Amino acid sequence: MRILIVEDEPTLGPQLKSTLESAGYAVDLATDGEDGHFLGSTENYDAAILDLGLPIVDGLTVLDRWRKEDRKFPVLVLTARDSWSDKVAGLDAGADDYLAKPFQTEELIARLRALIRRSSGNASSELEAGDVRLDTRSGKVTLAGESVKLTAQEYKLLSYLMHHKGKVVSRTELIEHIYDQDFDRDSNTIEVFVTRIRKKLGAETITTIRGLGYSLEDPENIDN
Ligand code: CA
Repeated sequence: MRILIVEDEPTLGPQLKSTLESAGYAVDLATDGEDGHFLGSTENYDAAILDLGLPIVDGLTVLDRWRKEDRKFPVLVLTARDSWSDKVAGLDAGADDYLAKPFQTEELIARLRALIRRSSGNASSELEAGDVRLDTRSGKVTLAGESVKLTAQEYKLLSYLMHHKGKVVSRTELIEHIYDQDFDRDSNTIEVFVTRIRKKLGAETITTIRGLGYSLEDPENIDN
Protein backbone atom coordinates (compact mmCIF):
# COMPACT_ATOMS: atom_id res chain seq x y z
CA MET A 1 0.00 0.00 0.00
CA ARG A 2 1.40 3.34 -1.04
CA ILE A 3 0.68 6.59 0.77
CA LEU A 4 1.20 10.22 -0.17
CA ILE A 5 1.85 12.70 2.64
CA VAL A 6 1.50 16.40 1.85
CA GLU A 7 2.79 18.24 4.90
CA ASP A 8 5.05 21.30 5.11
CA GLU A 9 6.02 21.11 8.78
CA PRO A 10 9.74 20.22 8.73
CA THR A 11 9.61 17.75 11.64
CA LEU A 12 6.10 16.32 11.31
CA GLY A 13 6.38 15.38 7.60
CA PRO A 14 9.56 13.24 7.78
CA GLN A 15 8.43 11.82 11.14
CA LEU A 16 5.11 10.64 9.65
CA LYS A 17 6.93 9.23 6.63
CA SER A 18 9.26 7.10 8.75
CA THR A 19 6.46 5.97 11.09
CA LEU A 20 4.33 4.85 8.16
CA GLU A 21 7.29 3.15 6.51
CA SER A 22 7.90 1.17 9.70
CA ALA A 23 4.22 0.23 9.62
CA GLY A 24 4.76 -1.37 6.20
CA TYR A 25 3.69 1.34 3.76
CA ALA A 26 5.54 2.78 0.79
CA VAL A 27 5.49 6.54 1.37
CA ASP A 28 6.11 9.68 -0.67
CA LEU A 29 6.35 13.06 1.04
CA ALA A 30 5.56 16.39 -0.63
CA THR A 31 6.21 19.61 1.29
CA ASP A 32 4.10 22.05 -0.69
CA GLY A 33 0.72 22.01 -2.42
CA GLU A 34 2.07 22.20 -5.94
CA ASP A 35 4.33 19.18 -5.59
CA GLY A 36 1.65 17.33 -3.61
CA HIS A 37 -0.96 17.97 -6.27
CA PHE A 38 1.44 16.84 -9.00
CA LEU A 39 2.33 13.56 -7.24
CA GLY A 40 -1.34 12.79 -6.52
CA SER A 41 -2.22 13.44 -10.17
CA THR A 42 0.55 11.39 -11.70
CA GLU A 43 1.31 8.55 -9.26
CA ASN A 44 -0.99 5.87 -7.92
CA TYR A 45 -1.70 5.98 -4.20
CA ASP A 46 -3.88 3.93 -1.90
CA ALA A 47 -4.47 6.95 0.34
CA ALA A 48 -3.21 10.48 0.98
CA ILE A 49 -2.67 12.48 4.15
CA LEU A 50 -3.17 16.13 3.29
CA ASP A 51 -2.40 19.14 5.44
CA LEU A 52 -4.66 22.13 4.73
CA GLY A 53 -2.22 24.97 5.38
CA LEU A 54 0.42 24.50 2.66
CA PRO A 55 2.80 26.75 0.73
CA ILE A 56 2.16 27.64 -2.96
CA VAL A 57 -1.23 25.87 -3.24
CA ASP A 58 -3.44 25.30 -0.16
CA GLY A 59 -4.69 21.84 0.78
CA LEU A 60 -8.36 22.43 -0.07
CA THR A 61 -7.43 23.54 -3.59
CA VAL A 62 -5.20 20.47 -3.98
CA LEU A 63 -8.04 18.19 -2.92
CA ASP A 64 -10.53 19.95 -5.15
CA ARG A 65 -8.18 19.58 -8.15
CA TRP A 66 -7.63 15.87 -7.50
CA ARG A 67 -11.35 15.23 -7.32
CA LYS A 68 -12.00 17.24 -10.50
CA GLU A 69 -9.31 15.13 -12.19
CA ASP A 70 -11.19 12.06 -10.96
CA ARG A 71 -8.41 10.94 -8.62
CA LYS A 72 -10.39 8.71 -6.26
CA PHE A 73 -7.90 7.59 -3.57
CA PRO A 74 -9.14 8.25 0.00
CA VAL A 75 -7.86 11.47 1.55
CA LEU A 76 -7.39 12.15 5.24
CA VAL A 77 -7.21 15.88 5.88
CA LEU A 78 -5.11 17.34 8.70
CA THR A 79 -6.59 20.51 10.13
CA ALA A 80 -4.38 22.94 12.01
CA ARG A 81 -6.92 23.31 14.77
CA ASP A 82 -10.16 21.69 15.80
CA SER A 83 -12.07 23.94 13.46
CA TRP A 84 -15.52 22.82 12.32
CA SER A 85 -15.37 25.10 9.26
CA ASP A 86 -12.12 23.44 8.10
CA LYS A 87 -13.70 20.03 8.53
CA VAL A 88 -16.86 20.98 6.61
CA ALA A 89 -14.80 22.57 3.82
CA GLY A 90 -12.55 19.50 3.69
CA LEU A 91 -15.43 17.05 3.56
CA ASP A 92 -17.18 19.19 0.92
CA ALA A 93 -14.04 19.17 -1.19
CA GLY A 94 -14.03 15.36 -1.10
CA ALA A 95 -12.05 14.41 2.00
CA ASP A 96 -12.87 10.98 3.46
CA ASP A 97 -11.75 11.71 7.00
CA TYR A 98 -10.01 14.40 9.01
CA LEU A 99 -7.83 14.69 12.07
CA ALA A 100 -7.11 17.84 14.08
CA LYS A 101 -3.53 18.68 15.05
CA PRO A 102 -1.98 17.77 17.39
CA PHE A 103 -2.89 14.10 17.05
CA GLN A 104 -1.59 10.75 18.23
CA THR A 105 0.28 8.90 15.48
CA GLU A 106 -1.52 5.68 16.48
CA GLU A 107 -4.85 7.32 15.73
CA LEU A 108 -3.65 8.56 12.37
CA ILE A 109 -2.44 5.07 11.39
CA ALA A 110 -5.69 3.47 12.58
CA ARG A 111 -7.76 5.92 10.54
CA LEU A 112 -5.55 5.42 7.51
CA ARG A 113 -5.93 1.64 7.76
CA ALA A 114 -9.69 2.01 7.97
CA LEU A 115 -9.76 4.30 4.92
CA ILE A 116 -7.67 1.90 2.83
CA ARG A 117 -9.77 -1.05 3.98
CA ARG A 118 -13.06 0.64 3.13
CA SER A 119 -11.87 1.88 -0.25
CA SER A 120 -10.77 -1.63 -1.20
CA GLY A 121 -14.06 -3.10 0.07
CA ASN A 122 -12.74 -4.93 3.14
CA ALA A 123 -14.82 -4.74 6.32
CA SER A 124 -12.39 -6.39 8.74
CA SER A 125 -8.84 -5.39 9.65
CA GLU A 126 -7.90 -9.07 9.40
CA LEU A 127 -7.69 -10.14 5.78
CA GLU A 128 -8.07 -13.79 4.75
CA ALA A 129 -7.28 -15.83 1.68
CA GLY A 130 -7.56 -19.58 2.11
CA ASP A 131 -5.39 -20.52 5.08
CA VAL A 132 -3.50 -17.25 4.98
CA ARG A 133 -4.41 -14.44 7.36
CA LEU A 134 -2.94 -10.97 7.41
CA ASP A 135 -3.60 -8.71 10.37
CA THR A 136 -3.35 -5.14 9.08
CA ARG A 137 -3.09 -3.79 12.66
CA SER A 138 -0.07 -5.83 13.76
CA GLY A 139 1.38 -6.56 10.32
CA LYS A 140 1.44 -10.28 11.23
CA VAL A 141 0.88 -13.03 8.70
CA THR A 142 -0.16 -16.57 9.58
CA LEU A 143 -0.58 -19.76 7.56
CA ALA A 144 -3.08 -22.18 9.10
CA GLY A 145 -2.52 -20.44 12.45
CA GLU A 146 1.28 -20.62 12.27
CA SER A 147 3.19 -17.36 12.21
CA VAL A 148 5.10 -16.68 8.97
CA LYS A 149 7.94 -14.18 8.70
CA LEU A 150 7.90 -12.01 5.59
CA THR A 151 10.35 -9.30 4.58
CA ALA A 152 9.03 -5.73 4.30
CA GLN A 153 8.72 -5.98 0.50
CA GLU A 154 7.07 -9.41 0.63
CA TYR A 155 4.58 -8.05 3.16
CA LYS A 156 3.78 -5.02 0.99
CA LEU A 157 3.14 -7.22 -2.02
CA LEU A 158 1.01 -9.75 -0.13
CA SER A 159 -0.91 -6.99 1.63
CA TYR A 160 -1.77 -5.32 -1.68
CA LEU A 161 -2.95 -8.60 -3.19
CA MET A 162 -4.98 -9.44 -0.07
CA HIS A 163 -6.67 -6.04 -0.11
CA HIS A 164 -7.63 -6.81 -3.73
CA LYS A 165 -8.50 -10.46 -3.35
CA GLY A 166 -10.41 -11.94 -6.26
CA LYS A 167 -9.10 -9.35 -8.71
CA VAL A 168 -6.31 -9.69 -11.22
CA VAL A 169 -3.51 -7.32 -10.29
CA SER A 170 -0.97 -6.50 -12.99
CA ARG A 171 2.76 -6.30 -12.35
CA THR A 172 2.68 -2.58 -13.15
CA GLU A 173 -0.06 -2.01 -10.59
CA LEU A 174 1.97 -3.88 -7.97
CA ILE A 175 5.06 -1.81 -8.75
CA GLU A 176 3.06 1.39 -8.44
CA HIS A 177 1.59 0.42 -5.09
CA ILE A 178 4.48 -1.20 -3.22
CA TYR A 179 7.36 1.16 -4.04
CA ASP A 180 7.79 4.83 -3.25
CA GLN A 181 8.96 7.15 -6.03
CA ASP A 182 12.63 7.03 -5.01
CA PHE A 183 12.80 3.26 -5.19
CA ASP A 184 14.69 1.69 -8.09
CA ARG A 185 11.75 -0.06 -9.70
CA ASP A 186 12.43 -3.26 -11.51
CA SER A 187 9.50 -5.38 -12.58
CA ASN A 188 11.60 -8.55 -12.37
CA THR A 189 11.84 -8.19 -8.61
CA ILE A 190 8.06 -8.63 -8.39
CA GLU A 191 8.47 -12.14 -9.80
CA VAL A 192 11.18 -12.80 -7.22
CA PHE A 193 8.94 -11.63 -4.34
CA VAL A 194 6.05 -13.75 -5.63
CA THR A 195 8.30 -16.81 -5.75
CA ARG A 196 9.49 -16.20 -2.18
CA ILE A 197 5.94 -15.69 -0.90
CA ARG A 198 4.86 -18.93 -2.60
CA LYS A 199 7.72 -20.74 -0.88
CA LYS A 200 6.61 -19.43 2.49
CA LEU A 201 2.85 -19.67 2.10
CA GLY A 202 2.32 -22.42 -0.45
CA ALA A 203 2.56 -22.48 -4.24
CA GLU A 204 -1.19 -22.14 -4.67
CA THR A 205 -1.43 -18.90 -2.66
CA ILE A 206 -0.76 -16.61 -5.62
CA THR A 207 -2.04 -17.55 -9.06
CA THR A 208 -0.26 -16.24 -12.14
CA ILE A 209 -2.74 -15.09 -14.77
CA ARG A 210 -0.71 -15.34 -17.94
CA GLY A 211 -0.16 -11.99 -19.63
CA LEU A 212 -2.28 -10.15 -17.05
CA GLY A 213 -0.69 -10.46 -13.65
CA TYR A 214 -1.45 -12.14 -10.35
CA SER A 215 -4.46 -13.04 -8.30
CA LEU A 216 -5.11 -14.40 -4.84
CA GLU A 217 -7.35 -17.38 -4.92
CA ASP A 218 -9.75 -18.08 -2.17
CA PRO A 219 -11.27 -21.52 -2.71
CA GLU A 220 -14.25 -20.71 -0.45
CA ASN A 221 -15.06 -17.45 -2.11
CA ILE A 222 -14.27 -17.42 -5.80
CA ASP A 223 -15.23 -14.08 -7.16
CA ASN A 224 -17.28 -14.69 -10.32
CA1 CA B 1 0.94 23.36 7.37
